[in-house]
Amino acid sequence: MKVIREIDGVREFRRALSGTLGLVPTMGALHEGHLSLVRAALDECDTVLVSIYVNPTQFNAPSDFSSYPRDLDRDLELLTSAGVSAVFLPTDSTMYPDGFAAAVKVSGLADRWEGIHRPGHFDGVCTVVAKLFNLVQPDRAYFGMKDYQQFLVVKQLVLDLNMPLQIIAGPTLRTTDGLAYSSRNVLLSATERARAPQLKAALDEAAREINGGSPVKEATAGAVERLVGNAFNLDYLAHVDGHTLEELAQPAQDARLIVAARLGKIRLIDNIAV
Ligand code: AMP
Repeated sequence: MKVIREIDGVREFRRALSGTLGLVPTMGALHEGHLSLVRAALDECDTVLVSIYVNPTQFNAPSDFSSYPRDLDRDLELLTSAGVSAVFLPTDSTMYPDGFAAAVKVSGLADRWEGIHRPGHFDGVCTVVAKLFNLVQPDRAYFGMKDYQQFLVVKQLVLDLNMPLQIIAGPTLRTTDGLAYSSRNVLLSATERARAPQLKAALDEAAREINGGSPVKEATAGAVERLVGNAFNLDYLAHVDGHTLEELAQPAQDARLIVAARLGKIRLIDNIAV
């Protein structure tokens, strides 16, 4: 596996390739969720490049950035055994050299939910993703449904800026108790980790109720109550349109339940189709 750290290295790598190139952008501390995207990319593309970069501009809380898990040696081992061709490991000064002044912003979709609770987050995501797409020039880029709003925002970015690539969504991978894999899960205390599966369980219960004919408002209120009773501090739990993320008072096709909540200091997000 080729380890690339510089812009010129990515450009050279890209120029030498024939066939399709898949990109899997990550912030490292890799888990099964990331690896499922890598496997999908390996199945569908001739060459796969994974980027690992803990992008400072998408963190709105400095403590979240400094405590974000990092385990580069393990990540490189996992990607080597998976059969990835190259990994891009830029530094902050490579991505944001002195004088860096551009920003990419998607309005509308990005202003809802995570956009409200993590101001500036999606500007950071869109800027770094646009840079990665321009540098790597992939034919396909793989994103997880776990970060559902991010997936929609990135699709909008690619559409609006006529970027010549396809955005592929991978399903949310979960541990056996239902908790979505997340790099931040290792930061949960034992008590918090034991409670964390309630997040998905509350969404499942609300979806069952909605599908069984209960009013959306009652079902979501029940889920909120269950989570609060399990020591979650909620940012939002909502029943939304799966394309626009607008809140829906009535059941609808392509509706999703989305949630963001804190257990102690750790913020978890999840979503399911209803
Ligand atoms: P991150 O390293 O958290 O920025 O995530 C990199 C990519 O992996 C993003 O596209 C995420 O949506 C995706 N991802 C994170 N967790 C999961 C998961 N549990 N299942 C599937 N994809 C995931």
